[in-house]
Amino acid sequence: MKTGLPTAFALIAMIALSIALTGCEKAAPVLDALKEALDREPVEDKIAKIDPADIPPPPEPVAMEPIVNKDARVGILGYHDFTEEVSNNDMILNIEDFRRQLQTIKDADLPVISMREFLDWKQGKAKIPEKCVLLTIDDGWKATHTLALDVFKEFGYPFTIFLYKNYIGVGGRSMTHDEIRELAANGATICSHSVSHQNMSNRGDKSTEAYDAWILEELEESHRFLEEHFGDTGAVIKAFAYPYGIYNDRVIELATEVGYEAAFTVNGKKTIWEVEDMEIGRYVVHGTTLANFEPSINFGGGTVTSSGRKLMSATKTEEGEVEAPLVTVRPPDGSTIGNRLPLIEVDLSKLTDLDTESLSMRISGFGKVPHEFDPLTGLLSYQIPQRLRLDQCGVQVSFRHDGQEEHETIGWGFQVERLADYFSSDATEPGSNETIEPLSQEKESEAETPTASL
Ligand SMILES: [Zn+2]
Repeated sequence: MKTGLPTAFALIAMIALSIALTGCEKAAPVLDALKEALDREPVEDKIAKIDPADIPPPPEPVAMEPIVNKDARVGILGYHDFTEEVSNNDMILNIEDFRRQLQTIKDADLPVISMREFLDWKQGKAKIPEKCVLLTIDDGWKATHTLALDVFKEFGYPFTIFLYKNYIGVGGRSMTHDEIRELAANGATICSHSVSHQNMSNRGDKSTEAYDAWILEELEESHRFLEEHFGDTGAVIKAFAYPYGIYNDRVIELATEVGYEAAFTVNGKKTIWEVEDMEIGRYVVHGTTLANFEPSINFGGGTVTSSGRKLMSATKTEEGEVEAPLVTVRPPDGSTIGNRLPLIEVDLSKLTDLDTESLSMRISGFGKVPHEFDPLTGLLSYQIPQRLRLDQCGVQVSFRHDGQEEHETIGWGFQVERLADYFSSDATEPGSNETIEPLSQEKESEAETPTASL
């Protein structure tokens, strides 16, 4: 027992003070604590006795939840060549049709992201808009520079060019190095499309070793060449587009081995976060039909059920009286609000037998959100915690009611006035929705039409 007297006196003084402050009924436990403190071994002695082998290892680092929004979907478009003439070739698109397509993307308020933004999202490093578009052009045709570049500049959209080594600066309709550099200076990312543009899945009569060596050459030399000639522009990224979109398991293995961040095919479907990095689909846009373009930018209304739509619509009784919708929402469907931090509210009080456990809410840009539900008022709500980045916000709410097995899904959207927050100080306060009568609006259903070509 070496407890120093000064420590003991300090303890007694503290205890006396705490008794004075808390009253006598607490005195007994406090005195016990004092006794315990006096019996305790000095800390220095304890430290001396610790065997380093007994020190537990530091805890394993906790896996960080990726900050990406895994619910986002990307429509990736693949273009080839352009012409000012009327096109009768699916691989060549009339340049005015191309301009119209970018205008359609713009009118649909679909943000166009760059290859870097896309890959950062795939790699769990950054968020992207919930629905967005990535634009790519293959092969390196001169019209990419002479025709398409002006259109890209007009819209200010980033794009990616997939070039193959044997068709760079070789005259004819290939682009010169300077033309490619000019694209890079205007928003182009430069990626590889092989050395020779041959079908990489075609082994021919090559031995396993010879086939691997050839595939490695196509993969590595093509990227090395781009780095050598355009690396200084900062526009080269190690991503690959398979010639004709054709590949096999060995090609994927080798592409992964040599460090490609991603490789692209021509299977037209929306890219979701879970898609394999070496098998990312693209919609190849044809010169003679919109059959691939239209589905590429149609993100639909998701899974909104037709019965869900009815819940949000006003109905007429047989006597012709208008009955209010069973479910009302705020901000109302189709409304425009001036607050980038709105409170989302759904009045579910008129529904019978609502299964509150089944409730879920998804918001564009946020994915599934931790909603609140008040069983007394029947109000489901979610306060947007950070300013909405997009000018359009979509909400989907799913639930079961009326003893039904299937989930009902309702969905609606509202606009956020551009710049509203910069001019109105009120608008920065969360939760101040404008109150407008709820509207209802038909939503298109998803039309996902996988198409393959080349
Ligand atoms: Zn190609």
